[in-house]
Amino acid sequence: MASQRQIHVGGVPIGGGAPVAVQTMTKTETADLPATMDQIRRVAEAGADLVRVAVPRDQDVDALRTIVRESPIPVIADIHFNYTLALKAIDAGAHCVRLNPGNIGGPDKVAQVAEKATAAGVPMRIGVNSGSLPKHLHELERENPVEALVQAAVEFVELMERLDFENFKVSIKSTNVPNTIAANRLLSEKIEYPIHLGITEAGTKWSGSLKSAVGLGTLLADGVGDTIRISLSTFHAEEEVKVAWEILKALHLRERGPVLIACPTCGRLQFDMDTVVAEIEQRLEQYVEPVEVAVLGCAVNGIGEASHADFGITGAKNEGLIFAHGKPLRKVPQDDLVDALFEEIDKSLDRGSVDVDAQKSAEGAAWLKRIEDENADELTPERIAQMEAAAAKEKDADFTPAPFLKPVSGNGEASRARPKLNEDASPVSGRRFTRT
Ligand code: SF4
Repeated sequence: MASQRQIHVGGVPIGGGAPVAVQTMTKTETADLPATMDQIRRVAEAGADLVRVAVPRDQDVDALRTIVRESPIPVIADIHFNYTLALKAIDAGAHCVRLNPGNIGGPDKVAQVAEKATAAGVPMRIGVNSGSLPKHLHELERENPVEALVQAAVEFVELMERLDFENFKVSIKSTNVPNTIAANRLLSEKIEYPIHLGITEAGTKWSGSLKSAVGLGTLLADGVGDTIRISLSTFHAEEEVKVAWEILKALHLRERGPVLIACPTCGRLQFDMDTVVAEIEQRLEQYVEPVEVAVLGCAVNGIGEASHADFGITGAKNEGLIFAHGKPLRKVPQDDLVDALFEEIDKSLDRGSVDVDAQKSAEGAAWLKRIEDENADELTPERIAQMEAAAAKEKDADFTPAPFLKPVSGNGEASRARPKLNEDASPVSGRRFTRT
């Protein structure tokens, strides 16, 4: 269930229907100002909405004053064990303080932080980790770790409410993906406050990204979670931000930068697609526009399933085709495909629409038709998928759902999907771009 309440961290709204916020944490020693600021600028550039910095010592608090002043995005102070550092972080101007009420020295210390945060208008993130549950929940943790995590979080929420402090978000974190999913689902049914999602110590860039995509993606698809952090074992915090964005983009929860789609390749592949896709992906990193680019390994299926893409290429032995919104633009020699693709993308961004040369487009269409006709009998993965979809549709037509099976409309977040293509735009239908 999506959170009902909204808080603001700096200028960033969290919860209550706001876009899911992306955050990360610096990996530098916070007191090392040049290194910390350099990392903060890089994560902001990569799309972080919020950044958290560890504040374990007084010298980190000193640095925090400057960090808050110079950071392009709101800064959250991460405090453990020492409540006086939380008080000092608020004085230093932190936009939010993250603490675990269970390890900060007791309710009276939490009360002092809450009082100061209220006076300063600073929100808090209160969180529990599977490794640090209060003693009285240890037995429950052994029997039912999910309930123990949720119980701990609910007890902290009740503590904050008793202290008249409601300007907070909550996090439950575990290294265990199924437990994280189950605990956050349960928590979202019990509280109205925004929820921060993360998988603790998820792992390396490869395994950690996958674990996070499964855990956080499952919850976000259910509408649970208002802000996310991907925890990866890398010193490059911007990598965490990129993964977070890929998860949000995949779920159509937020849009940022290009989307690359590529066929899985098969025995019909006629060029070095691995290299081409890697080059396109790298070059697309320079773009902020949400342009969707498709790469097809052969022209056997025509443009087919990639016809919704803003731009695409389909390769063949010696030459390939550039297309836009399902329509051929021009044929080019194989070696020039990538450069020609980016020429077309750049032109369209500069002009605000896709420029079509009627003669070149007709030549491309004829080339494509010839290849399609020559391979009309091929059972490609796409054609098999089409046949399966048609068969399923036929089956569905014969199926009358029971009265209790109502169609699900999806959560509120998913309704913020990419805008539909403008079918009436000319000369080639599709999204119009503006450079920012
Ligand atoms: S048949 Fe489909 S999967 Fe195989 S190379 Fe062609 S486009 Fe890619």
